[in-house]
Amino acid sequence: MKYILFYIFTSLLLSSCSHSTHRWIKNGIVPNQNQVCRTLGNGAHSAKIMYTGCGGLVIAHNSEEVFMTDPFYTSHKFGKDLLKTQIAPTPGNTAKVMDRVQAVGIDTNKINTVLVSHSHYDHLEDLPILLARHKLAEKVKIFGSTSASCTVANFLSGHEFINLDPLQFFQGPEDAAPESWQRISKNIRVLPIQSNHAPHFYGVHQMAGPTDCSTFKDYKDYTTKTKMDDWREGSTFSFLVDLISPDDTLRLYIQTSSSAPPFGFPPPAELKRKSVDLAILCVASHAYVKDYPDALLSKIKPKQCMLIHWEDFIFKDMYVADPKNVALTAIGPYMRKIKKHYKVPLNNLGDSAFMPRPLTLVEIKY
Ligand SMILES: [Zn+2]
Repeated sequence: MKYILFYIFTSLLLSSCSHSTHRWIKNGIVPNQNQVCRTLGNGAHSAKIMYTGCGGLVIAHNSEEVFMTDPFYTSHKFGKDLLKTQIAPTPGNTAKVMDRVQAVGIDTNKINTVLVSHSHYDHLEDLPILLARHKLAEKVKIFGSTSASCTVANFLSGHEFINLDPLQFFQGPEDAAPESWQRISKNIRVLPIQSNHAPHFYGVHQMAGPTDCSTFKDYKDYTTKTKMDDWREGSTFSFLVDLISPDDTLRLYIQTSSSAPPFGFPPPAELKRKSVDLAILCVASHAYVKDYPDALLSKIKPKQCMLIHWEDFIFKDMYVADPKNVALTAIGPYMRKIKKHYKVPLNNLGDSAFMPRPLTLVEIKY
């Protein structure tokens, strides 16, 4: 009985905090179309970024080099035992996302790299199905923590897992060791950076710590249900990503969970060499981290910000036409911090920061 009451109370609390994004569409911050173009340089080169929901991105450089982050395409309602809820991905959603990526001219069979920022289910759950159904390149390199490796270990046949735990740039030194940089294709390199993860609400940090590998020992079929709570966080990384052209480089910074400063900060020497063009930043749970994202913004000074992991994925499917904000995360205070950083009125903020709906294609000219 007490679980049912707790469940009802929590559901009411969480659902009461979701609001329509109409206001942000009106202000030009949520693009009201499924394809947008942003310019971050002289425009001679281009890249495509498909936002697939939560921390998920598919990024293509010159059509040939493609990688993805944090594959998760299925919303799950909490069951009455909350984190003991049994989950499995919905193949229909995985297909919908891959079809959309193909439809905008990104060849999903060229996705040769998956970056996993941390191992919660909402950043990793669809990777087993993508591998089992051969939706990506024939040989894929997966970069993630020891915890992520436990979860997907039984789906790796022919693919390679690279453990970032020892390779990441740890906070402190002025510069990263050259071996921390990962060359994921001819013209793309990635620096994994030690980051951390916000509490989910009011100081409560769910699914923390490393994954118990034994819980995924028999997870060999993506239709097998697993417990939400077993998808532990493990290490959390942010990423500095360079898309390199002969005469220019587009520098992306990707952070898919709100992180307490200085966690997630790139090495200072690297920022002196080249500043960040586009920061792709998490919105969810921002209010539970002091000085996020302001401290990060003043450190990396991105030309523009793309805001992700903002939509409701608990009470609604992520791919509805009018997504609401994720529960217990108000968008207004986040925008006020971004506005303060760029020193522009709200009506002009859309030139510096934008918050695409899932399945929006962002074309970057640089
Ligand atoms: Zn998480």
